[in-house]
Amino acid sequence: MRIDVVTIFPDYLAPLDLSLPGKARDKGLLDLAVHDLRQWTTDRHHTVDDTPYGGGAGMVMKPEPWGQALDAVARGATIVFTTPSGEPFTQALAHELSEEDHLVFACGRYEGIDQRVVEHAATLGTVREISLGDYVLNGGEVAALAITEAVVRLLPGFMGNAESLVEESHADGLLEYPVYTKPASWNGRDVPEVLLSGDHARIAAWRREQAARRTADRRPDLLPATGLVGALADLDVR
Ligand code: SAM
Repeated sequence: MRIDVVTIFPDYLAPLDLSLPGKARDKGLLDLAVHDLRQWTTDRHHTVDDTPYGGGAGMVMKPEPWGQALDAVARGATIVFTTPSGEPFTQALAHELSEEDHLVFACGRYEGIDQRVVEHAATLGTVREISLGDYVLNGGEVAALAITEAVVRLLPGFMGNAESLVEESHADGLLEYPVYTKPASWNGRDVPEVLLSGDHARIAAWRREQAARRTADRRPDLLPATGLVGALADLDVR
């Protein structure tokens, strides 16, 4: 997969050199480039923002540098505009994006990017406007980082143990069950007996029940999509 990130703060994306994304780049699974938007400005001050038409507080990102940047890096790509007005980012959307060959992240700042840039981008590739959640960040870089991390860990060959992708939260619509490691007793607290039993069927049933309970407690909004609402009544979970 190829990922290009366009930002006025390239240093914000430095964590992508670390840990698993860094290894994926070393292995050739991920080809990632971060671009400073200011290289596509033409004035002495490298200006990327201006006052909003119609008045109001703050500044808006100018269309010209963004147009030049996207013409240079985004032809034929899926172009992700990170914005609090976008569709919410989910694990399902991470899976969808992980199937693309080329993602470009356009990271907004100030009051956002001139709307005509989004329209122009739609003539170059496929536009997705994506929100990390119902809150406002200072810029799109943190959203681009989070989305990139969630997407690249789904690339075939990225995770050492692909099974951990199958078991984790949201993979089957449920939150993950609680996890434990050694020692079996710590600080007066014991690991649930079933996990020491070696009985794989009992362990699987316990984990499923714990996942259902946790989801019912913390995220009941997720339950209808799992089709588990009836089964949960039998478990005395709801
Ligand atoms: N005035 C904008 C609004 O009310 O929708 C918010 C602008 S915000 C201060 C600056 C930039 O941060 C946005 O253009 C966007 O790129 C990014 N951003 C902020 N919150 C975000 C979120 N929840 N998800 C994705 N990107 C976000």
